[in-house]
Amino acid sequence: MAQAHLTIDLGAICRNWQALDALSAPEVETAACVKANGYGLGAAKVGTALRDAGCKTFFVAVAEEGAALRPYVGDSVRIGVFGGHMEGDAALITAHRLIPMLNAPEQVVRHMTQAPDAPYGAQLDSGMNRLGMEADQWAASQADLNPVLVMSHLACADEPEHPMNAQQLAAFKDMINQTNAPVSLAATGGTLLDPDYHFDLTRPGIGLYGGAPFSAAEPVVRLSIPVIQTRDLQVGETVGYGNTWTADRPSKIATISAGYADGLIRAMGRDMALWSDGVRCPLVGRVSMDLITVDVTDLGHTPAMLDILCREQGVEDLAAAADTIGYEILTSLGNRYARSYV
Ligand SMILES: *Cc1c(COP(=O)(O)O)cnc(C)c1O
Repeated sequence: MAQAHLTIDLGAICRNWQALDALSAPEVETAACVKANGYGLGAAKVGTALRDAGCKTFFVAVAEEGAALRPYVGDSVRIGVFGGHMEGDAALITAHRLIPMLNAPEQVVRHMTQAPDAPYGAQLDSGMNRLGMEADQWAASQADLNPVLVMSHLACADEPEHPMNAQQLAAFKDMINQTNAPVSLAATGGTLLDPDYHFDLTRPGIGLYGGAPFSAAEPVVRLSIPVIQTRDLQVGETVGYGNTWTADRPSKIATISAGYADGLIRAMGRDMALWSDGVRCPLVGRVSMDLITVDVTDLGHTPAMLDILCREQGVEDLAAAADTIGYEILTSLGNRYARSYV
């Protein structure tokens, strides 16, 4: 079988959630973001495991994700929708008891006319200028609203020293000083800032899945890729599209069964390596759609599999090699992997 194996450690996700939960005071609720199919790792599996670990509130990006999640997590938990209440969402919101985070006056009107009995949250813009009501819109409507949560989002929380954090905190505090509803500002980055940022509920995502900025996170994913073929090269022979690598010593090259169509993006070529029992095996030549070529000369034997995500090389290492972020590596992980959960 040439299918690569993606192993997802649900226990590690739950321990990461507990570790993030422990960073805030006991009375602060810790929710979990499972948007984008649980950051690519499977929202149903992640959601069920976290519910069993004690998580009571989940967030998704769009109503359809919430509807898909509901049957797995059951009726005892809350599911918030960051995208709010879009046209056509009323039936999903009502049927699956989703809580839209209303982000504009139009959404408020839509919700009040189309799903007036359904609980909702209010999403405020404290300076990121992405989603949420502006201060004046909120001031004009808040007297008529009874949200179950008032939230905003930090733009620079992964940089603790960034002045934007304090600026957004002050703006958010100004906006919530009249509300009795529970409030929330922190995702993973904000959870790692000081307790001023925690309010009533934190809502980490990436930290659960082992990504930065939660550097104390346990790794969650392992990705092992079968070797399809190996060959011995003489000095001067080249490998792959464009002849970008030339053997400068007699070399053993392994061809493994995954490529950029599986989320192993082509940009990570140059600095990347695969691993076999703690031995680093450099990637050589270009990443192609379904295949990657690897120098296994120093391994001394022909491995059945090589690991690209493992103890020695985590999501953030892969992200750094591709000049991107862990979020993108995780959410790009492909559909061709045999996924197993431990
Ligand atoms: C994605 C998201 C989160 C979670 O962010 P992480 O950085 O993954 O912890 C929290 N709140 C909002 C509004 C988001 O969009």
